[in-house]
Amino acid sequence: MPEDCTWDFETRQIHAGAVIDAETRSRVTPIYQTAGYVFDDFDDGEARFAGRSAYRAYSRNENPTNAVAGRRIADLEGGVDGIVVASGQAAIAAALTALAAAGDHILVTRSLYEGTREMFRGVLARQGIEFEYVDDDASDEDWAAHVRPSTRAVYTETLPNPLNQVVDIERLARIAHAAGVPLVVDNTVPTPYLWRPIEDGADIVIHSTSKWLAGHGAVLGGAVVDAGRFDWAAHADRFPQLTEPPRPGVPSFVERFGAGAYLAYVRTVIVLEYGPTVPPSSTFLLLHGIETLSMRMDRHVANAQAVAELLATRPEVAHVFYPGLEDDPGHALAQKYLPKGPGSIVSFELAGGRDAARRFIDALQLVTPMTHIGDVRSLAIHLASTIHAKLTPEERAAAGITPGLVRLSIGLESPRDLIADLEHALDAAGA
Ligand SMILES: *Cc1c(COP(=O)(O)O)cnc(C)c1O
Repeated sequence: MPEDCTWDFETRQIHAGAVIDAETRSRVTPIYQTAGYVFDDFDDGEARFAGRSAYRAYSRNENPTNAVAGRRIADLEGGVDGIVVASGQAAIAAALTALAAAGDHILVTRSLYEGTREMFRGVLARQGIEFEYVDDDASDEDWAAHVRPSTRAVYTETLPNPLNQVVDIERLARIAHAAGVPLVVDNTVPTPYLWRPIEDGADIVIHSTSKWLAGHGAVLGGAVVDAGRFDWAAHADRFPQLTEPPRPGVPSFVERFGAGAYLAYVRTVIVLEYGPTVPPSSTFLLLHGIETLSMRMDRHVANAQAVAELLATRPEVAHVFYPGLEDDPGHALAQKYLPKGPGSIVSFELAGGRDAARRFIDALQLVTPMTHIGDVRSLAIHLASTIHAKLTPEERAAAGITPGLVRLSIGLESPRDLIADLEHALDAAGA
C-alpha cells in the first residue's frame, strides 16, 4: 500500500496489510503453517526473544498469516494496530484482562451479547474483576456516579446482539474519557463497513471474526484493534502495566511503543502468556471472507430490511427489533451511525409465545435452525430455550428475552425464497 493511502474501503478490504513474500512472490497471503521461525545464529535467538529483531520467534503470538489479518482489520476500523485470536470470546478476554485485574471494576451497558455476560459473571468475576451494568440511556450524571478509582474501562456493543438497541457511541466515549478510562466496543454486528466506532471516539474495538467478517460460517476467530489514541500516561495510576517498567531497567510499554502500547501489551503479554492462538489456516479463510465484506454487507442489509418489513405486517408477530424500521426506537441513532443499514440480525416476538416459536422453528425449510450469526446462510434460533436458557425467568425478562423471541441472522439467499420460507413458517406458528 502507498504511504499516504487514500484507497477506499472496497480496495483496502482486499489489499490492506498484505505483504508480498520476498522468496515466492505469492499474490495470495500464504498459510504460514509453522510453530516457529529459524534463528540465524546464537545472537539472533537472543535478539528475537528480546524483541530486538524484525523476525518472529514463535507462532503463539506472532504468525505472518495472522499478522496480515490483524493489520487488515485494524486498517478497516481506522486503528493503529490489531491482532487476531482464536474466537470473539478470546478477543474480549484478551482485551479486558490487558486492562483490568483482581480488584478492578468495569462499567458495562445493559444491552449485551449473552456469551459476553456469561464470561463477565463467570470466569472474569472469579478472577476478581467486577462488572457493573448501567442502562444504555442512563444520564451522563448517572454514568459518572458509577465511576470508581478502580474503574478500568467502559464496555459496550455498537449494535447489541440480539435486540439491536443502537448504542450512542459518541456519548459513551465522552463518559469514558471524562472518567479517565478507555471505551471498549464490540463491533461484531455492524462490521467496519457499516460502522467504524473509532471515528466516534472508541479506543479499543473487538470482533468475533467468526461472524460477518469471515462471513462463511467455516471458521472461528476474534480480533482486538487499538485506536492508538488513549493517553495511558495521563492515567498512569490506573494502568501501571503500561506505564511502569515491566522489570527494573526495562522501559515501559508506553515508552517503547508509544501509541501502540496497548496492542503491544496484548500481543506480547496477554496473547503470549494465555495463548489464545488462532490457526493460520482459519485466518486464511477469514482473509478470503474479508475481501468481499462490502458487497456481502450491502446484500445482508437489503435482505434484512425486506424480512423486517415482512415481519412487521404479520399478525403472528407482536414486535420486530430492527432499527431499519421507522418506528423502531433506535431508528434515529441508526440513521446517524449506520447510514448504510443496521446490520442483518432481525429479532422478533411471536404473539403465541414459546409454542408458536416451536411451530415456527420446526416449519422452516430454507432458514437453518442453528446458533451462530453472520453466515451466508440465514439462521434462526429461539433464544429463551437455548442461549438464554441458563438464566432465571426474572433475568431473562430483565434482558428482554421473552418466551416468543426468535433471532434471525439474515443471509445472502434470494429475498423471494427467504420471504416464502418465513411466510410459510409464520403460517405454521399462527396455526
Ligand atoms: C458471537 C459473538 C461473540 C463471541 O464470538 P465467538 O467467535 O463465537 O467466540 C462476541 N460478541 C458478539 C457480539 C457476538 O455476536
